[in-house]
Amino acid sequence: MATTKKKPAARSNGNKKSASPLKLKNMINGKFVAASGGKADDVMNPATGEVMAKGPISSKQDVNKAVAAAKKAFDGWSTTTPSERALAMLRIADAIEENADEIADLEAANAGKPRHDFLSEEIPFMADNLRFFAGAGRCLEGKSAGEYAEGYTSYIRREPVGVVAQITPWNYPLMMAIWKIGPALAAGCTLVLKPAETTPVTTLTKLAEICAEHLPPGVANFIGGAGETGADLVTHKDIDLVSLTGSPETGKAIARAAADSLKKVHLELGGKAPVVIFDDADMDAAMETIAGTGYFNCGQDCTAATRVLASKNVYDDVVAGLAKQAGNQVIGDTFNKKTTLGPLNSERQRERVEGFLERAPKGAEIVTGGQRPNRRGYYLEPTVVAGLSQKDEMIQDEIFGPVITVQPFTNERKAIEWANGTRYGLASSVWTRDVGRAFRVSKALRFGCVWINDHIPIASEMPHGGYKQSGYGKDLSMYSLEDYTQIKHVMASLS
Ligand code: NAD
Repeated sequence: MATTKKKPAARSNGNKKSASPLKLKNMINGKFVAASGGKADDVMNPATGEVMAKGPISSKQDVNKAVAAAKKAFDGWSTTTPSERALAMLRIADAIEENADEIADLEAANAGKPRHDFLSEEIPFMADNLRFFAGAGRCLEGKSAGEYAEGYTSYIRREPVGVVAQITPWNYPLMMAIWKIGPALAAGCTLVLKPAETTPVTTLTKLAEICAEHLPPGVANFIGGAGETGADLVTHKDIDLVSLTGSPETGKAIARAAADSLKKVHLELGGKAPVVIFDDADMDAAMETIAGTGYFNCGQDCTAATRVLASKNVYDDVVAGLAKQAGNQVIGDTFNKKTTLGPLNSERQRERVEGFLERAPKGAEIVTGGQRPNRRGYYLEPTVVAGLSQKDEMIQDEIFGPVITVQPFTNERKAIEWANGTRYGLASSVWTRDVGRAFRVSKALRFGCVWINDHIPIASEMPHGGYKQSGYGKDLSMYSLEDYTQIKHVMASLS
């Protein structure tokens, strides 16, 4: 995987600056333009609770302009060769790396991420991901041409779906935008992308700027706004496919809205990843990985290791081990390299997470954490909760915060039943040294991904996507590229 190219010796602390808020604009047809009507939302820095930007609220008129630009650009872009598209995408990947420091300053401030985590974990993966799709677009495969009916030759064409609407969430604002534009551009689609209203900064500044420089006008358009703007995009008659990364509720609203015109829908939704720990697991590795990935990004990750199921023989050790790991987390300024736990993304999200803890049922034990640390910003202590039962909301619903739950199970059958026993099916892990059990349990788990003796690593070549209410369609991999294409059968008479 690529690494960032340059790192200045010292950085200014983006949380200490009291500069006037950035005024964000839409990028349509290669140009930065203000939203019509001039409506704007305050965009906060979650580490300070201060306004860091004003984000455009796009009207129907702005949506129409962006979709018209993408539609106009489609004929040209879809008929470029895969090699030409790859070149543009490789340049975008290089530019992301070259601008890594500036991008990291903006994303750390807007999303509340530890800046060093973003630089070491997200920037390299974004560049790698764009480079993967640049190459992947050049080697799409299909059934061979042939005479499948007497007197006829048939062949298959894989063509771009058309103009796509892409809607991203706030937990990985830039990374989710990259995951979406990569396969769309490689397939020859043009796009209009709307970031989440609380985290539009990197998308509407650096990503838009880089795309304007390296793509023909209209191929990639970026507009700000909240759910209403998203809904206008989804229902626009010239959109051929809608791709959302967001909550199951938004996914269902989009699927219903798209049904009227039978638009294609691609949904990457929430998760509630179980971590199944058997007696023979490497306990030190498990504890370190669960804390590392359960508290990464403040637990705001659809695959976060936050629902631990431990064999009853090791349950007490797991609870104690996780409490110790929680104590090792360093809450702090997102621009400080020692910080492992930043704030939640918004005050609303912090209150939502606290709501789960306040409603904890009788018998539940908050082993550690659960309080607001004494500092400004939307922080919450790393938390471990034990004593819950399978039907409790903290087990059933996505908390999306720094809260890890632990349940004891008595046997393999029960572990599988509980692991599968929520509406979600995005990611899961099983921890055991018994190869047969690892394979048996991996087969039984109803999730789009199962890790064995690890949790969270991803690769651009491998698919990421859900079962059940975690959605359908895949991000990453050739499967995602195929989602942005449609198949045409051409049958020629030989007479
Ligand atoms: P959300 O569903 O509230 O919002 C997601 C996006 O949809 C935002 O841009 C929002 O403005 C837009 N939106 C809201 N209502 C809409 C509507 N009716 N029509 C069109 N667009 C609309 O989700 P969120 O709170 O921003 O993100 C967190 C969720 O995303 C969690 O559930 C998380 O698990 C999920 N997520 C999933 C993945 C994955 O790969 N499966 C990755 C990251 C996040």
